[in-house]
Amino acid sequence: MTGLSGLRAVVTGGASGIGPTTARAPAAQGARVAVLDLAPDGVTDPLLGLRADVSDDASVRTAVAAELGGIDILVDNAGIGAAGTAEDNPDEQWHRVLDVDVLGVVRTTRAALPPLRRSAHASIVDTCSVAATAGLPQRALYSAGKGAVRALTLAMAADHVREGVRVNCVDPGTADTPWVVRLLDAADDPEAERAALNARRPMGRLVTADEVAAAVVHLAGPAAASVTGTALAVDGGMQGPRLRPE
Ligand code: NAD
Repeated sequence: MTGLSGLRAVVTGGASGIGPTTARAPAAQGARVAVLDLAPDGVTDPLLGLRADVSDDASVRTAVAAELGGIDILVDNAGIGAAGTAEDNPDEQWHRVLDVDVLGVVRTTRAALPPLRRSAHASIVDTCSVAATAGLPQRALYSAGKGAVRALTLAMAADHVREGVRVNCVDPGTADTPWVVRLLDAADDPEAERAALNARRPMGRLVTADEVAAAVVHLAGPAAASVTGTALAVDGGMQGPRLRPE
């Protein structure tokens, strides 16, 4: 097999941020790619945009059953974030974020597993985050959700390994996307906040969507045929090197 040619991929949350790049990367390697998103109107050829809400089981099942005639690769990328400490977020917000970020992965995976089991190249890649393990300040709810996604990835890898379905996740560090811009815009001085954010990163910069997409394609593709139950950090060293005080 060359690249991902002939494979069929579903990417959730593929209309904005990391998603479009992550969806176009397997398409560039020959995969047919469907993007499931709340707002798929901007999704263009060769990608197939399908309207779906990962917090709604029926909507996910309908979209996953549509069009591609089978699934070889599922990328669980849709997610919403939340800033703040554990006490800052009210119960409704906890329910909403966990419903999308954690149960969204469960719903999409549940719907995709029957066609994945019929594939000879079945793979799931969950978009997790450094937040799962890094202990980031002001990200309690988001971190709890991504920690659950990390645990789900490992558990699902164990559950489905004998069915030929590999399950891995990528852990992006802070990436330059609309999601981050929204958080920066909420600060008193967004430009100063951006400079401070870059300065706190080991590489002095945020990671790019292209770098995350490359990791997703690697994990989904034949080069990773023996890789399951792993987390691939694309975080510019956020979980590794620590800057020494100057
Ligand atoms: P984004 O907000 O730019 O895009 C998210 C996409 O998901 C949007 O197209 C949105 O419409 C879609 N979406 C949201 N809720 C949905 C729902 N209920 N059903 C279907 N689609 C839905 O976000 P992003 O920054 O590209 O983040 C993508 C993923 O990467 C998320 O899982 C996020 O947690 C993760 N991540 C992002 C960063 C970062 O710094 N941006 C870092 C680590 C991990």
